[in-house]
Amino acid sequence: MAKALVIAFSSSDAEGAAAFGQALGAPFDILHFGDAPTDLGAGKMISASGDVPADALADGLKAVASGYSHIAAVSSMHSKDVMARLAGLLDAAMVTDVIAIASPTVFKRPIYAGSIIATIEVLAEPVVITFRPAGFAKPTRGGASTTETASLAGSGSTKRVSVSARASGRPDLTQAKFVVSGGRPLRDAQTFEQVIGGLADKLGAAVGATRAAVDSGIAPNECQVGQTGKIVAPDLYIAAGISGSTQHMAGIKDSKVIVAINKDPDAPIFEVADLGLVADLFDAVPEMTQKL
Ligand SMILES: Cc1cc2nc3c(=O)[nH]c(=O)nc-3n(C[C@H](O)[C@H](O)[C@H](O)COP(=O)(O)OP(=O)(O)OC[C@H]3O[C@@H](n4cnc5c(N)ncnc54)[C@H](O)[C@@H]3O)c2cc1C
Repeated sequence: MAKALVIAFSSSDAEGAAAFGQALGAPFDILHFGDAPTDLGAGKMISASGDVPADALADGLKAVASGYSHIAAVSSMHSKDVMARLAGLLDAAMVTDVIAIASPTVFKRPIYAGSIIATIEVLAEPVVITFRPAGFAKPTRGGASTTETASLAGSGSTKRVSVSARASGRPDLTQAKFVVSGGRPLRDAQTFEQVIGGLADKLGAAVGATRAAVDSGIAPNECQVGQTGKIVAPDLYIAAGISGSTQHMAGIKDSKVIVAINKDPDAPIFEVADLGLVADLFDAVPEMTQKL
């Protein structure tokens, strides 16, 4: 009998965790780091804490995961790091980036940067999963789950020497309703911040970038969107000076509305954009910012 443990590694993952649990159609518990509401339809809300490296966290989760047929978490760099290790420790099958559930053993996931959707049947239990919440309907709220706390006393062979994170004060890219992204033509970090950051701040948006912009030192690493960056699913994605490579599009295809600003009318991004503006971004973006 299927029973899932869905892990919310941050408070903002809790709704997504419930969306997955409800779509699975089996009883599920939510293990959450940070606050989470108790009306998400879970049997139990299990509160956990502990800011430890991924190997120790996976080791700690192994005991809590015992007895569940599915152990799942919202896709993120952190969850992939932890869940892959957990799958190894449990000797379990793993399916990453699930976007739809056909049955408790059949899942859909994108491959080749989203050009093909693969249907995967998993015949073994347990199965460890990461999923993209944008693919799932918002969870039905109601009722009250029982609550408990879990102690994740795991051990590992790595230790965190230091943490470097930039506090931008802007919304988290993966959760943001609006994202403004810039590409290679932004020239340098100061111009990127002024042009892309300026529009983002007027909209209350997160800032994204292409890998070309990140590799050229124009945009910070944590802003990279795409196949090897973050997957975003905002209501509005504004792409300024972005050609629309397959690898970039893999990270933005769940966006509800894509607006492209590019001076080349033949840029591939116009094939997928909902709204396109053929213009020089250095004219168009400041004008938009000023008019808002
Ligand atoms: C294995 C692998 C993984 C990758 N992963 C990622 C990833 O995760 N994310 C990612 O983004 N890329 C990724 N890439 C890189 C990807 O292939 C592209 O090289 C990159 O996305 C291009 O970035 P860009 O659009 O900023 O630059 P370009 O391709 O150089 O495009 C710039 C665009 O700006 C337009 N432009 C120029 N000047 C202006 C102006 N003044 N006003 C308006 N428009 C202007 C041009 O017409 C052009 O269309 C990956 C590549 C590989 C091989």
